Amino acid sequence: MEADGLTHTLDFQLDIREGDPSLLTDGTLESRRVVNEIFRLDKEGWDWDDIEDAVVDRSDHVQNTTQRLVAKATTALREYYGDEDHDYGRPNNNVREPFPIRMNHGEGYDLSLDGDTNDIHFRVSALKHNHVRGVLTGSPDHVEQLQTALQDEDDEWRVGTAEVVPVDGGHELHVNVTRTTADVAPKEDAQTVVGVDINEDCVALAVLDEDDIIASVIIDYTRIKERRHEFFTIRKRMQQNGQTAFETVLQDREKRYVHDQLHKISHGVVEWVSQFENPIMVFEDLTDMREDIEYGTRMNRRLHSLPFAKLRSYITYKAAWEGIPSDAVDPEYTSQECPRTECEHRVRANRRGKRFKCVVCGCQDHADRGAGISIAKKWMSKEERNVPLLKILPGFQQVRREASGRVDRPTATPSLVGGHQTESGAGVLR
Ligand SMILES: [Zn+2]
Repeated sequence: MEADGLTHTLDFQLDIREGDPSLLTDGTLESRRVVNEIFRLDKEGWDWDDIEDAVVDRSDHVQNTTQRLVAKATTALREYYGDEDHDYGRPNNNVREPFPIRMNHGEGYDLSLDGDTNDIHFRVSALKHNHVRGVLTGSPDHVEQLQTALQDEDDEWRVGTAEVVPVDGGHELHVNVTRTTADVAPKEDAQTVVGVDINEDCVALAVLDEDDIIASVIIDYTRIKERRHEFFTIRKRMQQNGQTAFETVLQDREKRYVHDQLHKISHGVVEWVSQFENPIMVFEDLTDMREDIEYGTRMNRRLHSLPFAKLRSYITYKAAWEGIPSDAVDPEYTSQECPRTECEHRVRANRRGKRFKCVVCGCQDHADRGAGISIAKKWMSKEERNVPLLKILPGFQQVRREASGRVDRPTATPSLVGGHQTESGAGVLR
């Protein structure tokens, strides 16, 4: 973990009570103009320090808002120059869509807590000398977290940058809040061990204690892969037709979509894991993780590689926020090993796609759940814990993420092997 704490983004709606709401649209369009200008000057070979000076000078945004935009645009440029495949192409400088206004707290925007009503008041400088003011509204847990952060600022919490984000014809305020003293439990205190197996289409979680397997779930997200493939196909067609401005818009949309989905999945994972006693989450060491997947083409490789590392870092991050520690084990054989402790036979032939059948003892399982079990067991033996026998493997839940539109409620589906169907509550994977 970084020494300076953990940062979360909280989303709010803006109840504007002073100032013209259309200023926010003007502000997001000015942000786009600034970002376009940065991309254009970079294309013309300007030095980045000179770009910053020129852009800050011409901008209708307050100085440090423009500087935040420069930082964001140069990050995109660094990604472009660092990606040798260049498969997203050079950042386009002719896009017309609004771009988020990125602001420092106390400068481009300000928040204050009303001591009597507990309302959170905001001031946003949509443009230089052009403010809108009002009250933030949002989900109860986001409002509560921000209230806490504003109360304890300078102590345990810090309110950082925020963005005015265009959403469905209106605007949202996304506020970064940092908890400076995040208390992650020591791994020695862990009583339940959650083996996490991340795959291209699902994440499998197996929860073990020293006596038995307690629960397991498979969260399926095949739909993300499908959606990314759709995005990819459309973008390629646009490239061929020279519609590069549209392509950039679509890239942003795709990145936002993937980010959103991974965020929701990791949230669900951590929420599910929180129900167990003093849990620790155990992952495979990432470096060798992709050995199972066949990469027919370069496109395939890129489609698959992105979400992996991200999903894991989102999960570890959110877990740490909840005080749950994470650790990793050597990934070797986890997907080929028989989960029954007295057998543990390892051979490639045990696994066929998602089906696992041990060629020695005949034990059958969903291959990814089995891998989750092996990961948890590996950690237990590494830590010299008692490893449960697991003579019988119980059923497991399977949850599917419907990734289309705004539906974010997981729906239970019958499990593939020996499982039972369960109800899942709103947004809760259990
Ligand atoms: Zn076996």
